[in-house]
Amino acid sequence: MTADSPHSTSRTARCQCGALEARCAGQPWRISLCHCFACKARTGSDFTLNATYRDEQVVLSGAPRLWERQGEDGGHWVRQYFCGECGTTLYHRIEQRPGSVSVAIGCFGTRDFPPPAYEVYSECAMSGLNLQIEPQAERQ
Ligand SMILES: [Zn+2]
Ligand SMILES: [Zn+2]
Repeated sequence: MTADSPHSTSRTARCQCGALEARCAGQPWRISLCHCFACKARTGSDFTLNATYRDEQVVLSGAPRLWERQGEDGGHWVRQYFCGECGTTLYHRIEQRPGSVSVAIGCFGTRDFPPPAYEVYSECAMSGLNLQIEPQAERQ
């Protein structure tokens, strides 16, 4: 792992069984923490952390299954790509961010990420949870 230069940083996310991989070069342009109920259900956790990259930064391998849902605010699609073997949702795409892929930070198996700059759907956060991140107006 070469963490000294931001340009040489490369991280690989994997599903639990290793059949799916996302090799990500450079830094994500967006790291967000999401409290929406769809993300909670997707992961079984109370919130999610997602690293969003431009498509050209990411090499995807494996044959994921796809489940498409409507966005929390309706009208647009969210495509969740998951492993048919182990069930991990490794990454997702949303209609409003063409050319980008959001990778589940937990699948990188590293602590080496900057803190999230965006906390979204904070109105859905678990009562009493205070992560002290400045909420952003942008959704998803
Ligand atoms: Zn798997
Ligand atoms: Zn969400």
